[in-house]
Amino acid sequence: MNIFEDKKRGGTSIETLGEFGLIDYLTKDIKIKNKCSILGIGDDAAVVDTRKKYRLVSTDLLIENIHFDLAYVPLKHLGYKSVSVNVSDICAMNGNAKQITIGLAMSNRFTVEALEELYEGFKLACEHYGVDLVGGDTTSSTSGLMISVTVLGEVEKDKITYRSGASVHDLVVCTGDLGAAYLGLQLLNRENEIFKDNPKIQPDLTGNDYVLRRQLKPEAPIKYLEILSELGIVPSSMIDISDGLSSEALHLSKSSNVGITIYEDKIPIDYTVMNLANTFNLNPITCALSGGEDYELLFTIAQEHYEKLKKDPDFTILGFINDISEGNNFISKDGSSHTLTAQGWNPMKKA
Ligand code: ADP
Ligand code: MG
Repeated sequence: MNIFEDKKRGGTSIETLGEFGLIDYLTKDIKIKNKCSILGIGDDAAVVDTRKKYRLVSTDLLIENIHFDLAYVPLKHLGYKSVSVNVSDICAMNGNAKQITIGLAMSNRFTVEALEELYEGFKLACEHYGVDLVGGDTTSSTSGLMISVTVLGEVEKDKITYRSGASVHDLVVCTGDLGAAYLGLQLLNRENEIFKDNPKIQPDLTGNDYVLRRQLKPEAPIKYLEILSELGIVPSSMIDISDGLSSEALHLSKSSNVGITIYEDKIPIDYTVMNLANTFNLNPITCALSGGEDYELLFTIAQEHYEKLKKDPDFTILGFINDISEGNNFISKDGSSHTLTAQGWNPMKKA
């Protein structure tokens, strides 16, 4: 439901509940799930038990009209996505997310019902990921909605995975497929423009469920960590793909002080993404390299693990780690070598 329509229908203004009433109302049915969450909402600070593991902490800030547009993002999806992107950062350290806190700032054009929808999304994601919502802060803003989510996670000390651990000859692997979330965004943008020009035209989103879901309701890559753990694989380095494959690959190689080589014909792209990229006149490889928001994992493994992963369709071996002196390379389909750049790759062939 669109929040503005909601107000027209006579939604409840935030002032009727007041700040404390609002927090109570939005959080009244939250129950703690994890043993390590000692105390949740209600005191001046939440209390978590750190046990014998490393504690992981990460924050993401989402600002209206910078990171999301409420013209086409349902609030429930927005809530879900804000939790997913944080849990994804914990996954990228090979950890398990346990608690989140949520900072919210909103203008008075938001009704209680609109915030309730947002919280539906937060709560759904918390259920799905087994995470406890243990606190937050609520304040007003002069315009727009701001959501700051902080996630706490944990990882056994011998399983922590940094960006900096890749070694020469390691294999470069990614999970799932790439480019879909970016195309989902292009599709929503296009339909929104058409709608702005002529509000009588209904958006045509049929047959594009996959890319839309990948944009609006991304999943944190928890299931892949479970498979890796069952296979007894601890990646040597790892990062989540939030900004596009090429810039994440460069983050890994820079942090690890090595070079990386990626093969174009290995990059996993769903067939619906291939087709839709064509209708948008976009190269699907560019969508994968520079699109972003896929929230898959990019990681490196020692070659000894090759046999364990090679047949699993959840994982794709994209290339390998090379010496820093050999640079960052993109091998295109015709076999020619190019420099991998944050924008994708340099079309000039390497000598
Ligand atoms: P303080 O004034 O001490 O910061 P608050 O009144 O802001 O306390 O918060 C009271 C309790 O409600 C705290 O436990 C806090 O973590 C929680 N809380 C506040 N805002 C939110 C929110 N948006 N979502 C979840 N919990 C919240
Ligand atoms: Mg507070």
